[in-house]
Amino acid sequence: MAGLLAATPDQAEFLVELLDHGLLIETGEPGVYGRGGGFERIREAFDRLVSRVAEPDGAEAMRFPPVLPRRHFEASGYLKSFPHLAGTIFSFEGTEQEAIEQEDVAHRHGDWSGYQRMTDLVLVPAACYPVYPAIARRGPLPPGGLAIDAGGAYVFRHEPSADPARLQMFHQREMVRLGEPETVALWRNSWRDRAEEVLTRVGLDAHPEVAADPFFGRAGRMLAANQRAQELKFELLIPIAGPEPTAVASFNYHQDHFAGTYGITMADGSPAHTACLGFGLERITLGLLRSHGLDHTRWPAAVTRQLWP
Ligand code: ZN
Repeated sequence: MAGLLAATPDQAEFLVELLDHGLLIETGEPGVYGRGGGFERIREAFDRLVSRVAEPDGAEAMRFPPVLPRRHFEASGYLKSFPHLAGTIFSFEGTEQEAIEQEDVAHRHGDWSGYQRMTDLVLVPAACYPVYPAIARRGPLPPGGLAIDAGGAYVFRHEPSADPARLQMFHQREMVRLGEPETVALWRNSWRDRAEEVLTRVGLDAHPEVAADPFFGRAGRMLAANQRAQELKFELLIPIAGPEPTAVASFNYHQDHFAGTYGITMADGSPAHTACLGFGLERITLGLLRSHGLDHTRWPAAVTRQLWP
């Protein structure tokens, strides 16, 4: 397959184990798996643990479907930074004759894209994206800003890979903070510590690193260097099955990017700042399975007490 990222022997072997134990379920597409009950019990338990740790924030809960209005996506700048990762939704709009032709081509697994037209929806690339336009619509932020719990939504990244830790669709547990620059920076720093602590509590060997997004192309390398120099993004990394540790949580300080894009201001009219934090729930589940074994009923009590108190 074109563009398929290869797996190391360790990653390939881990994937086979996960499939054999019914933790992941094969669909035939790399990076797209069903999840068995055992996998989901762990993923949901970690999600609830994050909720308990987040409680003092008093965040307002918001949930969105895994699609985003195209006009919000177009305004976000995602296509400039990550055109290679985006997923857009097309649908059929044609005559009965064209429907018959489309079915004929599709049935032979030919290219039926010519019968499809872009809809007004794209797949959500990060769980925080629907939050910004929703908050902007309310008008200026209250003093002290807002904390939003965006839940554990499914997000899409077009990067087919044979590495079980690189999924095309996965749950990102996101929290968003909007407000004055100092408030937002403090929140992000506090979560960097809390997130490392929560991963440590479940027996994962996590360490933070200054990181950069996988920006596209040559201009993207400059964006990434700038992001690193300003320390706008941190990640927490844990060993899974790769030769290098894998990022399982990221902390992103957007400064006034989203506020400027969607018009989010403070009461005095100054632009708000925003930051978000995302836990990759599947990657954390995989890290737990890799560290403690494929049968969660046999994990160390110190770990299961945290997940199933
Ligand atoms: Zn985000």
